[in-house]
Amino acid sequence: VFALFTIGNMNAQKKDYLDKNKTIEQRIDLLLPLMTLEEKVGQMNQYNGFWDVTGPAPKGGSAELKYEHLRKGWVGSMLTVRGVKEVRAVQKIAVEETRLGIPLIIGFDVIHGYKTLSPIPLAEAASWDLDAIQKSAAIAADEASASGINWTFGPNVDIANDARWGRVMEGAGEDPYLGSKIATARVHGFQGETTADLYKVNTIAACAKHFAAYGYVEAGLEYNIVDISNSKLYNSVLPPFEATVNAGVRTFMNSFNTLNGVPATGNVFLQRDILKGKWKFDGFVISDYASIREMIAHGYAKDEDDAALKGVVAGSDMDMESYIYVAKVVNLVKEGKLKEALVDDAVRRILRVKFELGLFDDPYKYCDEKREKATIGSKANNDGVLDMAKKSIVLLKNDKNLLPLKKSGQKIALIGALANDKNSPLGSWRIASDDNTAVSVLEGMQQYKDNQLTFEKGADLIVGKTSFLNEVVFNMTDKGGFEAAKTAAKNADVVVMVLGEHGFQSGEGRSRTDLDLPGVQQELLEEIYKVNPNIVLVLNNGRPLSIPWAAEHVPAIVEAWHLGTQTGNAVAQVLYGDYNPSGKLPMSFPRNVGQVPIYYNRYSTGRPIDSDKNVFWSHYSDVEKTPQFSFGFGLSYTTFEYKNLKLNKTAFAKGEAVEVSVEVTNSGKYDGKEVVQLYIHDDYASIIRPIKELKGFELVNLKKGETKTVKFTLTNKELGFYDNEGKYLVEPGTFKIMVGGNSDKGLEGGFEIKE
Ligand code: BGC
Repeated sequence: VFALFTIGNMNAQKKDYLDKNKTIEQRIDLLLPLMTLEEKVGQMNQYNGFWDVTGPAPKGGSAELKYEHLRKGWVGSMLTVRGVKEVRAVQKIAVEETRLGIPLIIGFDVIHGYKTLSPIPLAEAASWDLDAIQKSAAIAADEASASGINWTFGPNVDIANDARWGRVMEGAGEDPYLGSKIATARVHGFQGETTADLYKVNTIAACAKHFAAYGYVEAGLEYNIVDISNSKLYNSVLPPFEATVNAGVRTFMNSFNTLNGVPATGNVFLQRDILKGKWKFDGFVISDYASIREMIAHGYAKDEDDAALKGVVAGSDMDMESYIYVAKVVNLVKEGKLKEALVDDAVRRILRVKFELGLFDDPYKYCDEKREKATIGSKANNDGVLDMAKKSIVLLKNDKNLLPLKKSGQKIALIGALANDKNSPLGSWRIASDDNTAVSVLEGMQQYKDNQLTFEKGADLIVGKTSFLNEVVFNMTDKGGFEAAKTAAKNADVVVMVLGEHGFQSGEGRSRTDLDLPGVQQELLEEIYKVNPNIVLVLNNGRPLSIPWAAEHVPAIVEAWHLGTQTGNAVAQVLYGDYNPSGKLPMSFPRNVGQVPIYYNRYSTGRPIDSDKNVFWSHYSDVEKTPQFSFGFGLSYTTFEYKNLKLNKTAFAKGEAVEVSVEVTNSGKYDGKEVVQLYIHDDYASIIRPIKELKGFELVNLKKGETKTVKFTLTNKELGFYDNEGKYLVEPGTFKIMVGGNSDKGLEGGFEIKE
């Protein structure tokens, strides 16, 4: 491989940057001066491989042009090239045909698994299991890297509380504390725990996205403007991003949205002041897809020149598929409009990550066909995603103890088109996976042979896809299968209905104004209920749904999201009690869409009726103010009791650690796992604080009858907040705490921070 480097025009002593004994910064110092301005700008240019085969090239480009640029050394990265064969082909051009032979970094949306799919990220967040989440990301990295990829566009760390927005499925939900912990776990899963781990062949560079505030698009409408307060920005949006920087994330992606009037892509404040300034991030920033160009459509950049200028000045180091940097930046520098130092800084950052990955030492290190064959879809990876899938399931209701199902002697009717669907459970963002590769719920349940299982779909969920953007079209009229489903239900002891959203209904570009069960599913549910009310409803969805009728009538509800490749096995094991569910919702479920955005860490509205109990007059006249299912909520087949909440003291000096302990007992009939959650409320502050904020959680395994003491420590890190200038403050005053199994209720206590 090394010999290939001699193909370029350079003389031997100039290749000192290939000397592994030098530090990365020394190697960059040696390489940068060898690069022409065109070659430098080339490093800042990323092309999509996908369009070559699937459709027309976007404005400004064509497949031929891409290859021409690749050969000239004007391409630093490609995305959505996959498979060792394809990656090797483009890498070979970069390494063997360009003057300097600088290797490409190969990006891909590895969002929840590569080919073997884990649950969608929102579902994984419901596990609250950081080790499992880290492992899941590591499996994804293992498969992706075996397929030639060395950089993922993940994790998505966008905090979001508007379920209308389709991309809530990609994040970790509504809470910045949980979101920060999960963001850290995912970065470590992809990259390893230290930057040195990035050099390994089975890790890939991670990318925190979308910077910033994309989760707050107005009215949940995709790509819409974001207008939010500084307080929201500093306290909710930015913490998970900062956590990824602390975890060593090597890249950031900016976002399509404007933030308070300025596109994130051209945002000096976000990228220069906060990210590269205050947080000292030394990796690089990639634009979102063609977002450099979109600054023109936003009405922020006059033309392509202006977009290029504003992008580089704002610290967007790499242009994803806008064709604008490659066309404009060289001239901007030559004309004196853009400082070459800014280009050098961007290129240094990009080269740094390439060196860290070891691409200069062996550009084909991810191109090993043998490893590709052995790794992708391996038994170990399937076992891993199955484990993650089980941990992601949330039991929302179990009134008549319908669950767990008996293992024998029961007549079960399985109803709903999604029960037999092998595609939808894979969820959105699954570019490398083949269609119809999930284990369906039907297949999962068929493995429990001692029951009499009948399946009736009742009605089709979808009747097709739109040609534009592939949006699913729902069956709104055909109820031809209702009668057969009703007969099956009538003859059964228990009915399991799998209903919800299609996998392609959430994700990018998938905003909704209704959060109900689409198509004729609600009608089917009510018809079945009339003949047999013993229903276990298994929900499939990529966002919180509003299901008020089901919440009131259906005795058992299981939140099963889109769980990926092993969906059916995970669902069956939970339904039959081979796995006791322990998931807790990472996002509030509204009663109706009019409540949205609804989130647990809201603020007091003033005008109290009983301020001690947080009861306020502010209300809707047509629906209860509370969510249907709250953040942090989830049941188990067993029950847990909390007692003896203790604090080491009641008054503390600023900076002193507040030690909290609580006893948790498994008081039910099964061994189980509980997510013990600690919330605080800062009673008064110079900027109002949420009525509750998660500040600690602990996963506890408890055998039936067992009691454990769970301990938390609150320090300045948990007790403060950011003011409107972004300054972190810990103010003296009184605080309340609550410890329990959800954000609604728990044991309460309080303490004071003295001046
Ligand atoms: C999305 C990003 C994604 C990129 C590359 C964009 O449309 O917003 O999240 O990483 O495409 O596929």
